[in-house]
Order: sequence, then structure tokens, then C-alpha cells
Amino acid sequence: MTNFQIPTGISLVSPSEDVERKVHSTIHDVIVVGSGPAGYTAAIYLARAELKPLVIAGALEAGGALMNTTEVENFPGFPEGIMGPALMDNFQQQAERFGAQVEFEDVTELDLSGDIKVVRTADEEFRAKAVILATGSAYRKLNLPDEDRLSGRGVSYCATCDGFFFKDQHIAVVGGGDSAMEEANFLTKFASKVTVIHRRDSLRASKIMADRALSNEKIEFAWNSTVKSLQGEENLTSVILEDTVTGETRELDATGLFVAIGHNPRTDLFSDQLNLDESGYLAVAHPTTATSVPGVFGCGDVVDHIYRQAITAAASGCRAALDVERYLASLEDAS
Ligand code: NAP
Repeated sequence: MTNFQIPTGISLVSPSEDVERKVHSTIHDVIVVGSGPAGYTAAIYLARAELKPLVIAGALEAGGALMNTTEVENFPGFPEGIMGPALMDNFQQQAERFGAQVEFEDVTELDLSGDIKVVRTADEEFRAKAVILATGSAYRKLNLPDEDRLSGRGVSYCATCDGFFFKDQHIAVVGGGDSAMEEANFLTKFASKVTVIHRRDSLRASKIMADRALSNEKIEFAWNSTVKSLQGEENLTSVILEDTVTGETRELDATGLFVAIGHNPRTDLFSDQLNLDESGYLAVAHPTTATSVPGVFGCGDVVDHIYRQAITAAASGCRAALDVERYLASLEDAS
């Protein structure tokens, strides 16, 4: 199984003291942090504007959330659909074709305060006049006592990554949104049965995704239910459900539990330097992508708690690139 890291195109590694880094003397026009649809679209536009963007794409998680998706059916231009990783590979190639430099490293520290922004990885330091933050979002956890202990031992956050390990087993999926429906449908390829556990009696998912799950003979629904606890020593053996209406508990004999309850914005790298909104997302001056610090721009899921689609992330990456172009032009005018 995977180690269940977050598929958002950039890893969050704790900043460490006393690290010797190779300091690059080049001052880039712009560095893009993150490599999902937002980051790569920004890079495509910036590269075509001959700004030679440096993309810090992440080490293990380059490509963002779509790397853990199967078929993407709603990205315009692909009438037959396209696999998520193939789409992201196309994004990367398109950015590189016009001169974007892509580094597969994790950003560990940012210093956004000065006119020249500093972006550090474990062993390198880069500088730029502008930075685009496209760090995406992270899986939301249930926050149950045994969740971390049983992660990779029955508990998973990514059906595409781990579904194969649950062949002919009873799998539970938590959540009532599009992600949960997508995961549940996908897992029926492997599972003997899939039970969707949802805390209400109606789904949040879009009609097409909900109908697909509701009509799938291998999927059952545990309505008005939350996961109270996880059972199992070495591996998950069952989950205890609590009825949200009656308070009654019951045991569900699932050996796999896929948590698909949404995402949190990944702001840890810069939450002490930039304003966040009331929901904890990176705050930008809508309709622009400007953050609270001049020269720093935000796009994609880290700024968006409403739409969160690949196409809307890509669109905001385009806007961030255009905002950077204008910002750099204003620096030229001022000098
Ligand atoms: P979401 O729409 O926010 O849904 C999260 C679901 O998890 C909700 O049903 C919510 O319940 C439930 N939930 C949240 N916290 C919970 C908790 N602590 N315990 C139990 N249940 C909890 O998130 P998402 O499904 O990841 O979708 C995010 C966005 O991506 C959406 O815009 C969606 O359309 C999009 N998306 C699209 C596709 C596609 O079109 N192919 C696929 C995946 C995602 P409540 O309903 O009660 O709030």
C-alpha cells in the first residue's frame, strides 16, 4: 500500500534548522509551488510569456490530486475521457515545451516577506521576484483514535492507490460527496461488497455520480451513520457505526475503510506569512489571485472552497500567471 500521503503536487516537509543548502544565485522571474492543474496551467502561460517559470513540483506527489484519479470524464477537450495521470503528464509536457523548468522536490520553507522571495527545498534555495502558490488540499481525516495506526492496514484515503489490495473483501467508504461515490464505484471492481457510510440520509454528490452508485448492485448504503471506532490489532477487522438519529451502535465487518470526506487546504508552509480566509483557505483579492503580500499569488484548491474542479483550478492558474505578468511589468515600470 501507499503511505497515504496527500496527492496535491507538493509535500509539506517540516522546516528544519541548520540545513546546508545549495543557494542558487539566479533570481527567477517567478517560481510556481505545486504541480496540479493550477500550477501547471500557470506554468504554461508563464512559459509562453517567456518568463521561464521554475516549477517546484513535489517529490512523491507531483501532479496533484488527479494522479490518484482514474478516468477524468469532465475535462473539456477529451470526449472519450482521459486517465488522471495521463492528463497531468500532458500538462507537464505542455509547460516544458515552452521552457518551464520542473524540479521534483518538496518545498520545505518559504520566505515571502522581501521583494525577492525565497523558496527552499531540503537542500536547495531558489529566489524569485514573484511566487505562485498552488499547493492544493489534503485529505480530511476522521480523527479517530486508531486511524493513523491502521492507515495502510485497512484504512486508506485513495481507492486508486489501494483498492487492489482488497480483492473479494467487504470495503466501506465514508462520505456522501462525489469523491465517496467515485471511490465506491471504483472499489466494486475489487470488493465483494461496498458499503457507503454517510452521516445523513441524502447524498451531497452530483446527480450523475449519485445515480451511478445508487444503481450499482454491489453498493449498499449505511444512512445516518458515522464511524465511531475502528477494530483490529494488525489490520482493520471491522468498524463500529453509530446511528446519528437513534444513537444505536452496530458492527460492520469491513476489512477496508476508504475515507472520502473532503479535503483541507494545504497552507502550513505559509499560514504564518499570508492572510487566510475564515475557512482557512489562502485569501486572495477576488477576482484576482493576489494574496496579502505583494508578489505572491494563489490559485487552485488552496484558495477555492466552492468549485474545486480540475478545470476551475486550471482557470485560476491561468489568472495567476496573468497577474504575475502584470506584477512583473509594474516592477519594470517602477524601476
Ligand atoms: P465534499 O463535496 O465536501 O463532500 C464531503 C462529504 O463527506 C460530504 O458528504 C460530507 O457530509 C462528508 N463529511 C465531511 N466531513 C465528515 C466527517 N467528519 N465525518 C463523516 N462525513 C463527513 O468533498 P468531495 O466529495 O471530496 O468533493 C470535493 C469537490 O470535488 C466537489 O466539488 C466535487 O464535486 C468534486 N469532485 C468531483 C468529481 C467528479 O466530478 N468526477 C470527483 C470527486 C470530487 P455532508 O454531506 O453531511 O456534509
